[in-house]
Amino acid sequence: MSLKIYNTLSRKTEEFKPIKKGRADIYACGPTVYNYAHIGNLRTYVFEDIFKRVLQYNGYKVKHIMNITDVGHLTSNGDEGEDKMEKSAEREGKTAWQIAKFYTAAFQKDLKDLNILLPNKFPKATDNIKEQINLIKKLEQKGFTYKTNDGVYFDTSKLTDYGKLAGLDKQQLKAGARVEMGEKKNITDFALWKFSPKGQKREMEWPSPWGVGFPGWHIECSAMATKYLGQPFDIHVGGIDHVSVHHTNEIAQSEAANDKPLANYWLHGEFILMGEDKMAKSADNFITLDTLKEKGINPLAYRYLLLQTHYRKQLSFSWEALGAAQNGLYHLYNIVQSWDKPGPSCNDCELKFLEAVNNDLDMPAAMAIMWDLIKNPIFPGSAKKRTILKFDKILGLGLAKLKKQKINIPTEIQNLIAERDGARFSKNWDKSDELRKKIETAGYTVMDTPEGTKIEKK
Ligand code: AMP
Ligand code: ZN
Repeated sequence: MSLKIYNTLSRKTEEFKPIKKGRADIYACGPTVYNYAHIGNLRTYVFEDIFKRVLQYNGYKVKHIMNITDVGHLTSNGDEGEDKMEKSAEREGKTAWQIAKFYTAAFQKDLKDLNILLPNKFPKATDNIKEQINLIKKLEQKGFTYKTNDGVYFDTSKLTDYGKLAGLDKQQLKAGARVEMGEKKNITDFALWKFSPKGQKREMEWPSPWGVGFPGWHIECSAMATKYLGQPFDIHVGGIDHVSVHHTNEIAQSEAANDKPLANYWLHGEFILMGEDKMAKSADNFITLDTLKEKGINPLAYRYLLLQTHYRKQLSFSWEALGAAQNGLYHLYNIVQSWDKPGPSCNDCELKFLEAVNNDLDMPAAMAIMWDLIKNPIFPGSAKKRTILKFDKILGLGLAKLKKQKINIPTEIQNLIAERDGARFSKNWDKSDELRKKIETAGYTVMDTPEGTKIEKK
């Protein structure tokens, strides 16, 4: 069965055809490690993880590269402002290198907590300065660059198809850009190399043929993607906000340098919103995974929540929905734990599930197929177990690690447990106590553990 994915570049759902048979190479824009990732950022990485798992489920050997942006991302997201890393170092009284190390480790911990399969490599921008300088030299030789007082810029007027990823022409891109012109020739031109401010020593700076300074954010990804995956490679992924600038500029400079496409498929995940607004570090409206954990939320409950919305739809965050997702997850755990050893599988359901995930990662449909199977009285628990453990290779909800509970919990009791989890989540302690009494009167002991509610027959 073919895998269909929505390609931002063509604005069409296309069949995935790899460059090398049986292989799928992915480049994902990694985090800027100046602060904790928020759960909006993490939605993008969960979407990418689901995609990677779907590729693997379809039999592809995946090579996954995710960079670490540890220099060059400025506070404006454009070519002005302070470097986010240096600003953070100042705020925390540490070196930029310490900041990078600390937040890279925190990010990798978040990935593990969310059961995200780690990439083959996390190349750091600061370890690939030579490659970035070489790419800029190539662009210079081909006449795509010019120098100003503050850096070396890419001249976007030299390309006829600049902006094709965003589907915008130059006029629209100009209208949308809220950037200072400075000495730039065109408003869409962008910095390839920035000079260190005069008379000021930056912590992160390197010599270059143009002067001491540091790379622009976009050149980092172009250089690292082609170093590890070649050009063209199969798939480039990231958040939707990268379409109009970051990925547009990656395409411009890589294609100008090498006269071939950068990547064949471009996939973008939609935002998590807080109310009407995008969750963003700059907007101060963000929530981290640690905050969820402090509130007793299992990170995999957040993953479960994300699975219920298609990756190309915006998702408004709410504590209620997250609480319901945690109930759903623990309900699923209780059911899976009550089943016997995996037996023969349910081929029909597996086919339906594959159809759903191969239809541009329709995870809400895939989740519904899983719950339909669970509720279907025709199949024994052993068959359901085998099939659902297969599904979990994509869902990543940690079902294979669950130990079988020695008792079979009747559905009425499971429902009471889910209801009590809901009451506890919304801090309705009276209702939670009342439900505990009901469960105990029915002959079961309730235990609250970090893995969820555990239950034993008295
Ligand atoms: P950053 O660390 O700022 O470079 O962002 C890391 C990733 O998170 C990028 O792929 C962004 O597109 C993505 N991102 C940023 N904000 C959100 C959000 N509110 N919802 C989903 N993804 C986001
Ligand atoms: Zn990038």
